[in-house]
Amino acid sequence: MSHSKTAIIIGAGVAGLASAIRLSAQGFQVIVYEKNEYPGGKISEFKVKGYQFDAGPSLFTQPENIEELFTLAGEPIENYFHYQSLPISFKYFYEDGTVINAYTNNLVFAEELENKTGEKKERILSYLESSKKLYQNIAGLFLNNSLHQIKTLFSPGVYKAIKTLRWKHLFKSMHDLNESHFKQKHTIQLFNRFATYNGSNPYQAPGMLSLIPHLELNQGTFYPKGGMISISKALYQLALKKGVQFYFSTPVERIIQNENCANGVVVAGKNIFSDIVVSNMDVYFTYQRLLLDHSKASEVLKQERSSSALIFYWGINRSFPELELHNIFFTTNYQEEFKSLFKTKKVYEDPTVYINITGKIEPGLQAPLGKENWFVMVNAPANIGQDWLKFKEQYKAAIIEKLNRILGVDISPMIEVEEVLDPVTIENRTDSYRGSLYGTSSNSKMAAFLRHPNFSKKIKNLYFVGGSVHPGGGIPLCLKSAAITSKIVAEDFKGK
Ligand SMILES: Cc1cc2nc3c(=O)[nH]c(=O)nc-3n(C[C@H](O)[C@H](O)[C@H](O)COP(=O)(O)OP(=O)(O)OC[C@H]3O[C@@H](n4cnc5c(N)ncnc54)[C@H](O)[C@@H]3O)c2cc1C
Repeated sequence: MSHSKTAIIIGAGVAGLASAIRLSAQGFQVIVYEKNEYPGGKISEFKVKGYQFDAGPSLFTQPENIEELFTLAGEPIENYFHYQSLPISFKYFYEDGTVINAYTNNLVFAEELENKTGEKKERILSYLESSKKLYQNIAGLFLNNSLHQIKTLFSPGVYKAIKTLRWKHLFKSMHDLNESHFKQKHTIQLFNRFATYNGSNPYQAPGMLSLIPHLELNQGTFYPKGGMISISKALYQLALKKGVQFYFSTPVERIIQNENCANGVVVAGKNIFSDIVVSNMDVYFTYQRLLLDHSKASEVLKQERSSSALIFYWGINRSFPELELHNIFFTTNYQEEFKSLFKTKKVYEDPTVYINITGKIEPGLQAPLGKENWFVMVNAPANIGQDWLKFKEQYKAAIIEKLNRILGVDISPMIEVEEVLDPVTIENRTDSYRGSLYGTSSNSKMAAFLRHPNFSKKIKNLYFVGGSVHPGGGIPLCLKSAAITSKIVAEDFKGK
């Protein structure tokens, strides 16, 4: 393909990689500058003493977003990427001894919930059905299109979306919606958890977020062979195959503007020109550091950031048959936990603990045989300069106490390897403001409309992708942001 147009992408996160593939398929010659020495941004891995850990994301949903990129590029996905679906998405543990398997077969899951909690299975099935309807009618419009183009608001999907919406989706919190639908507290808590999918608070986020369970429980939960790192490895290989040029350990210093038009970047003090610039860097830092527009940068912060996390990567010297790939150990007081995450921004003494063990799916590969690689995560408040050294000790003690209580065994002597990731490191590693995992949160009714658009209204030929802009964070939405942005670029460059 002959290239007449050039694109520079700032950042090789999953959204930057997807944008590179899409723009190259649209005939752009693409260059990606990445400040780190590896592609993938928040998706990364490390190995220590025979244990392999995915450092960032661990839950994989909507593989079709990845398949679409291979189809678009005309490359067989099986040469690059393999994944499998999971019969159980999560295993939930409660302090009172209740254990629930979230089967991805709806009927089996509904029966499991009825048996374990007394919640009528019809209630579960009707909730999942409305989650599906909501997703199909709303998300189709909001997640696949720019919300900041007039034509989206006049498209045929709008009528369908408005018809689906109810008072409870817009004006009730997700928790209130769940509380009015379900009778049992364990079920309410389980469905409240889905607000954390994009680092939000179920007591504030709108009922609209009840569409999220559709992803995991109706569409399914998947595991990429080799762990989550296989996602960024595959997309990087695909981009290379399509002729995308990558420069690692190469931070972009400025975006060059001429008469309100972006036409390149400054790298190592040199001007590199291009027809368009796509920033996959956090939108706040893009304005603050690359455009030196501090007032626009603070305007972006009007929308609250998502929560952060504290992660302990533990090599465990025995195996736990009672655990699955994804496990949640719930707090007894979810509301208080969210208060400390978003209001007091302190450690909560009884945090909800998530454990991911990829060695369950690939025994002997991700951890030495008979041992397990535990990715142990608690949601943590945004970094506002707290004493993280102290927080780490407090969280570790709380986690170990909780796991010992619920698993009925002292796990401390089993930890033979430990690494830790805190919000400060998350912030520094990928320039993610305050260490937010998912960019912006959905803690307000207007969240979807407050997110930054995928293009600049002021600077021509400047575009944005990734978790800090529309439609939001998490791998599926980041991949969708790349699709939306490339569509806008295609329209802007029609006939050029
Ligand atoms: C601990 C953790 C757990 C998570 N769990 C999940 C999960 O289970 N499932 C899920 O779907 N999502 C999860 N997420 C969220 C998901 O990882 C992110 O939403 C997604 O990976 C973000 O991709 P991105 O492309 O927007 O940005 P990033 O991955 O942040 O990429 C941005 C890139 O830009 C680069 N960059 C920044 N500044 C510059 C510059 N000046 N010049 C050049 N390059 C620059 C950065 O180095 C980085 O590589 C998790 C995130 C974390 C951290």
